[in-house]
Amino acid sequence: MALIVQKFGGTSVGSVEKIKAVAERVITQYQKGHKMVIVLSAMSGETDRLTGLANAMQKRPDTREMDALLSTGEQVTVALFAMACMEAGYKAVSLLGDQVSIHTDNVHTKARIKNIDSDVIHNHLNEGKIVTIAGFQGVDDDGNITTLGRGGSDTTAVALAAALQADMCEIFTDVEGVYTTDPNICDKARKIDRISYDEMLELASLGAKVLDIRSVGLAKRYNVPVHVRSTFTENIGTWVVEEDKIMESILVSGITYNKNEARITIKKVPDQPGTAAKIFLPISDANILVDMIIQNTRDGHMTDMTFTVMRSDYDRTLEIVEKLAAEIGADSITGDKHIAKVSVVGVGMRNHSGIASTMFHILSKEGINVEMVSTSEIKVSCIIDEKYTELAVRALHDAFALDRDNLPSEENN
Ligand code: ADP
Ligand code: ASP
Ligand code: MG
Repeated sequence: MALIVQKFGGTSVGSVEKIKAVAERVITQYQKGHKMVIVLSAMSGETDRLTGLANAMQKRPDTREMDALLSTGEQVTVALFAMACMEAGYKAVSLLGDQVSIHTDNVHTKARIKNIDSDVIHNHLNEGKIVTIAGFQGVDDDGNITTLGRGGSDTTAVALAAALQADMCEIFTDVEGVYTTDPNICDKARKIDRISYDEMLELASLGAKVLDIRSVGLAKRYNVPVHVRSTFTENIGTWVVEEDKIMESILVSGITYNKNEARITIKKVPDQPGTAAKIFLPISDANILVDMIIQNTRDGHMTDMTFTVMRSDYDRTLEIVEKLAAEIGADSITGDKHIAKVSVVGVGMRNHSGIASTMFHILSKEGINVEMVSTSEIKVSCIIDEKYTELAVRALHDAFALDRDNLPSEENN
């Protein structure tokens, strides 16, 4: 008998029929004697719909109330799922974040899980119930409802698997696993059988939304093997696990894109100690994450500072920077919301050169201008015009032959 945590995403629970089908799938496992803990997302489109309602009500929605609103999406699916199990003749109970309890910090709409009381869950499981838990939500020290950020149900599932010391954590979604790139924009994308936590962290941080990045971080920290697979087939998906020798030798494992970023450039600020701190401290105090930062030196005295933030933080960031402009002596501020970041990722890059130059060459062949670049040991990212995203992803996928196994040959060394 095993304790299994399974998470089903929005498209998997997008209708009454789909919720019934998920319940049947879970019951099949339960009948084998396993203890089942099921984390659900809101129905597909629901979180966007609720966000739209909030934006229609308040120019910049109050984040505490936003969390109260958004958490209702998951409340609906878990209650319906528990009913579906009962209707089929099985004992079930739904639990919300504060009923579990899933304790978080108090950063509304971006909260982080601090700890989970697993006693309530164990008590219900010991009474023979299928336990279903609302994803994406928690409660802060003052009893306020919090949410974990978009895609946060994956994080709820992995955190629960760690807290319950589950035998298995399975993430069910609308594709068969983790692919070499988004299978919905590149039909040559290939499913990856096993991927390391580190590589998955890079893919997720660079836009492969099939797994929320924080869920991968938790899985790595608590050594939870995660199986990403399809809700709609019985096929084996992708195992996200610790790195092994075979993985190390793979040069490039994936291409990602992220259309969720925006660029801000502050022109002609004094090139002297303290300028960067003056710009970025108020931004981080506002809980805004900055991604790429580039500083160009001009005339030895003045510099341009260009950086990217999440598109949803663009207006807020611009406001902060505009207020700072006079204080730091900036000449002007420009921005662009229509950018995308495409990235080539692979742990094998550590020992190989030439990935960045190949990437620049392929993009230039397609007439795509590279606006910003950033690299790490295992990735190269370029900022380009958003409208070329799909073209760039497909061209890079072809260039690195990702539709085939791409173990490096000696010639590449
Ligand atoms: P869920 O609602 O189940 O959480 P998501 O929409 O968050 O599902 O994530 C699944 C989607 O991730 C897929 O439909 C696919 O379009 C997208 N995706 C992006 N990159 C990848 C990738 N490398 N492998 C698999 N799916 C990817
Ligand atoms: N419902 C939330 C979202 O759409 C959380 C999730 O599905 O993981 O982002
Ligand atoms: Mg998701």
